[in-house]
Amino acid sequence: MQAKEFYPIGITGKKWQDAEYQLWRNQTSVKRNYQQEVVTKIHALADRFKVEQYGALSYDSERYPLFCIKSNSWESNKPVVLITGGVHGYETSGVHGALQFVDTQMENYSRYFNIIVAPCISPWGYETINRWNPLAIDPNRSFFTDSPAEESANLIKLVNTIGQAILVHFDLHETTDTDETEFRPALAARDGADFTPGTIPDGFYTVGNSENPQSNFQAAVIQSVSLVTHIAPADKDGKIIGSQVTQEGVINYPMVKLGLCGGVANCTYSTTTEVYPDSSKVTAEQCNQAQVAAIKGGLDYVLTKI
Ligand SMILES: [Zn+2]
Repeated sequence: MQAKEFYPIGITGKKWQDAEYQLWRNQTSVKRNYQQEVVTKIHALADRFKVEQYGALSYDSERYPLFCIKSNSWESNKPVVLITGGVHGYETSGVHGALQFVDTQMENYSRYFNIIVAPCISPWGYETINRWNPLAIDPNRSFFTDSPAEESANLIKLVNTIGQAILVHFDLHETTDTDETEFRPALAARDGADFTPGTIPDGFYTVGNSENPQSNFQAAVIQSVSLVTHIAPADKDGKIIGSQVTQEGVINYPMVKLGLCGGVANCTYSTTTEVYPDSSKVTAEQCNQAQVAAIKGGLDYVLTKI
């Protein structure tokens, strides 16, 4: 298949050069407002939690400040939990699910854990409904030293300031129909590769770390989410998005090797949630609730282990 047939930018089999990157950048536009929809919600939590700015995106540092929200009762004898959302800014329930967890659950779980939540890692992606940053870099393949994605570099810097080992990490994502219609074709075009169509699973799944799968922890997350929304079935090959299903609703990736956010904390219990927002069976509110249920299920499991 020729590149021009599956994506409007680029030449068949040729990696994008500066001109194509510029064309891509030029066709992005602001579609929703980070300050109004996200920052306002974060500030509203400041009377109950510590809200700190940990950086800003250089594309527009006034428009894109980066915030984290921390437990008030931070004590060195409690294990640390990291929750990240909006690494892919277009994955809406990652952002609003993280904020909903803070609003409805964080006081309770802060009795047992020091919790730090970075609800929107990629605010430019949030506003333009994009997977990549303005340089057409995927922040969720960029969690490594000297990262070219400032979204990732800022989070790495924040993690390094915590000063305590992180025990649990939830990285909140979605798998959307636009992954197949826009973002995967764009990736193939950018890299001068062929585009092989895939399928988007109908339902929730998690991605564990293949180097430390923690299958009982993943199962607890799936069990909790299954009370809110349906779990993605394996396809006819026993796979979800090309990876072997290891138990209901769970696949594993080598998190650190792939530069995924799920590897940033290098911790004992890590899961990447994948909510499916385009199902006819779910509402946006249920997607947020699924993210909250995933965190609750995982934390309740960890509480039985510590
Ligand atoms: Zn994602």
